[in-house]
Amino acid sequence: MNVLNLIRENIKSMQPYASARDEFTESTSDMVFLDANENPFNNGLNRYPDPQQQEVKKMLSEMKAVSTENILLGNGSDEVLDLIFRAFCEPNKDNIIILPPTYGMYKVLADINAIDVIEVQLTSDFQPKTQTILLAANEKSKLLFLCSPNNPTGNSFSRVQVEIVLRQFKGIVVIDEAYIDFSVQESWLNCLEEFPNLIITQTLSKAYGMAGIRLGVCYASKEVIAVLNSIKPPYNVNELSQLKALERLSNIKEVQNEIEQIKNQKEILLKELKEVVFIEQIYPSDANFLLIKVDNATERYEQLIEKGIVVRNRSNQPLCENCLRISVGTAEENTQLIKVLKRLNK
Ligand SMILES: *Cc1c(COP(=O)(O)O)cnc(C)c1O
Repeated sequence: MNVLNLIRENIKSMQPYASARDEFTESTSDMVFLDANENPFNNGLNRYPDPQQQEVKKMLSEMKAVSTENILLGNGSDEVLDLIFRAFCEPNKDNIIILPPTYGMYKVLADINAIDVIEVQLTSDFQPKTQTILLAANEKSKLLFLCSPNNPTGNSFSRVQVEIVLRQFKGIVVIDEAYIDFSVQESWLNCLEEFPNLIITQTLSKAYGMAGIRLGVCYASKEVIAVLNSIKPPYNVNELSQLKALERLSNIKEVQNEIEQIKNQKEILLKELKEVVFIEQIYPSDANFLLIKVDNATERYEQLIEKGIVVRNRSNQPLCENCLRISVGTAEENTQLIKVLKRLNK
């Protein structure tokens, strides 16, 4: 399978826009930069940021044991996902496959890019229906989105099923690993070589605690990364975000400590939620949130709002009737949630 055959014709022939900072990279501190019409007075941010974010990539590359040539950074994974659409999907012609209930952005991005969406619902225990997916696919199916651990259900997909579609789906398989750092399952990162049609997205928004800086990470073959690079806005990750990302990534102990605390809190929440009489089901979670089924989701949602607690009502999603999605908070926040839930009238 040559994935480059899946690229849109107009994109195949594109050369990346060469920004001033691209053209001259061997910067030494005594160089005089008069090439980008910047204000010359140094305030720490008067220069354009590195369009290739080399420092951040170097750090990720060491942490994940992946070459920097297999990495692309975006303004959140939402931008990365949009770049993937624009590289592979011809508007008003191609389609993508998604597996509801899942992350809402895949369909939003498909609609923005005028791409049809084929929906293949997950099984009742939220696993992909591999054979149905492969049967639903046609020659215009360019992307298949697998969100694992899945939002809003919280579970990871069976590795065996994922591997079947990786081998048999004739387009790109995007595995969204936004929650991978909370998961007991291994990332698919070390399978990039084996599957040329695999793209993995991760983010600093969840486990890394940096939702505010908007930094998404894409891992793929060098060839796919080169194509995405050729269409990305030149300065898509700003200087402040790059600096904050470096700071956070160099403090990985703290990140790991927070992940451990969140996982411990999830176990405590799980135990406490079992004692709430109107909670009918708590689904297994491999992420930093829990999906629960209650007697009446809309009513319980409103009651919680009244007590100052905001959760996510997912009851309009397929297979999620009367379901609420609850993020794991700090110990204090979770205690407050439990206290409020236990006091709500039956
Ligand atoms: C939160 C989330 C993201 C993160 O998106 P960013 O744009 O990086 O903040 C991506 N995918 C899923 C499934 C998510 O739940």
